[in-house]
Amino acid sequence: MAVTKPQTGLIGLGTMGAALALNIAEKGFPIAVWNRTTSVTHAFKAGAGELADRITPADSLADLVAAMAPPRAIILMVPAGPAVDDMLAALTPHLSPDDLVIDAGNANFHDTNRRAAAGLPFRFLGMGVSGGEEGARHGPAIMGGGAREDWDRIAPVLHAIAAKHKDQPCADWMGPAGAGHFVKTVHNGIEYADMQMIAEVYGIMRDGLHLSAHRIAETFADWNRGVLQSYLIEISAEVAAAKDPLTGAALLDVILDKAGQKGTGRWTAIEAQHLSAPIPVIEAAVAARNISARLDERRAGEAVYGPAPEPTPGVTLADLQDALTAGKILCYAQGFTMTAAAGVAFGWDLQLPAIARVWRAGCIIRSSMLDAMAQALTEDPARNLILAPRFTAEIKRCLPALRRIVAAAALHGHALPALSAGLAWFDAMRTARGTANMIQAQRDFFGLHGFDRLDGKDLHHGPWAQA
Ligand code: NDP
Repeated sequence: MAVTKPQTGLIGLGTMGAALALNIAEKGFPIAVWNRTTSVTHAFKAGAGELADRITPADSLADLVAAMAPPRAIILMVPAGPAVDDMLAALTPHLSPDDLVIDAGNANFHDTNRRAAAGLPFRFLGMGVSGGEEGARHGPAIMGGGAREDWDRIAPVLHAIAAKHKDQPCADWMGPAGAGHFVKTVHNGIEYADMQMIAEVYGIMRDGLHLSAHRIAETFADWNRGVLQSYLIEISAEVAAAKDPLTGAALLDVILDKAGQKGTGRWTAIEAQHLSAPIPVIEAAVAARNISARLDERRAGEAVYGPAPEPTPGVTLADLQDALTAGKILCYAQGFTMTAAAGVAFGWDLQLPAIARVWRAGCIIRSSMLDAMAQALTEDPARNLILAPRFTAEIKRCLPALRRIVAAAALHGHALPALSAGLAWFDAMRTARGTANMIQAQRDFFGLHGFDRLDGKDLHHGPWAQA
């Protein structure tokens, strides 16, 4: 019997690549695979169980290409950066113009733009994949960028392997060139902020209310049944409930408070600055990871200024839940407005409702609130989420709690960088007469930059200009 040659291939059988390849095979698509270390390729096939029949291992790139039927679609799942450029160069002599290479790693979208513009002698897509190993294996969220017709060609495979939200695949084309990797970057920025805000309310529960990890786990589990239902709250409950196998203590209590990062949150913050798009909650979350890494300085600070934070009277779990709800809405509003600004700046027709829909399942920030956001953005994609009726009601309900929590934290020495940044942003955004008139006067004083007037009259410098 003639064996059908696969049209889909995958390079890089690490954590993500192996899981993605098994997912593709499981959905009925034969797949050819190659890995830099050949033994990994064969171990992968050997460990694929009943899916092994659909997997064609290759020992060289030439073998990989020869094992596939044209036009080919080859997914790259290697570390972002030079490894991607090296693989594109190595594939070049083997591929035809109709073949398609899909970079599915966490590329910086500027690199994807550069590669898309470089005139590669084959088709090229940049694709953000979220959901970690479990998502890659059983249903990630997928954000594609490049030529629409290339996306459409591979879409049947991607729709089959993606997470589903009410039967709708969480995989979509975001726009040209680096648009997919850009949306994935913003996803990761929001992920940093979601995680930071959860860590902040955890901190108040631990240090302000002196709750045990067990009680904190119960609280998160309870919140996961309400408006905060999300993957990150769900796993926060699980990690808070976990015991350390070595000591039997709560695992959270033995983990060093020093967070790592791979840089996608930082990329979001940097890009927001370039776009003049305010995302202070995400920026605070990135800064908080950097502060967490300065352990020695923090210890020296505590030695000088005394122990903090203090027990915090008056704080309730209900207030913490509502403060987190408000913070989350404010953070997402910032993330979506930044995405809209990028769409304008880069000439990409980024569809905010489609982005919210893709994030509803499979990815790390998946949550029930994203479904409501998708609906609000569908009603009016140009409207800031804080002005969408369903969210204005929720913000009004939760705002007093956010104020109480931020105020109590400030009085008792708890650091809440992301939640307080959200509140400050909100207060600035709801203030029609702000304070930038002072900035403008100062700028005119020292630099004759001029100012506009409320009364529209034609005098744009202060009396100091004549001096
Ligand atoms: P791993 O470290 O588990 O695997 C890396 C893979 O790339 C291995 O197969 C490795 O081959 C191969 N590789 C490394 N360097 C090169 C190179 N110079 N040339 C060719 N192949 C190379 O990484 P992950 O699977 O975790 O990540 C892969 C990509 O997916 C990254 O861009 C990552 O940022 C992204 N990503 C990861 C997520 C995660 O949760 N882990 C989530 C979403 C995206 P070898 O066996 O020879 O070392």
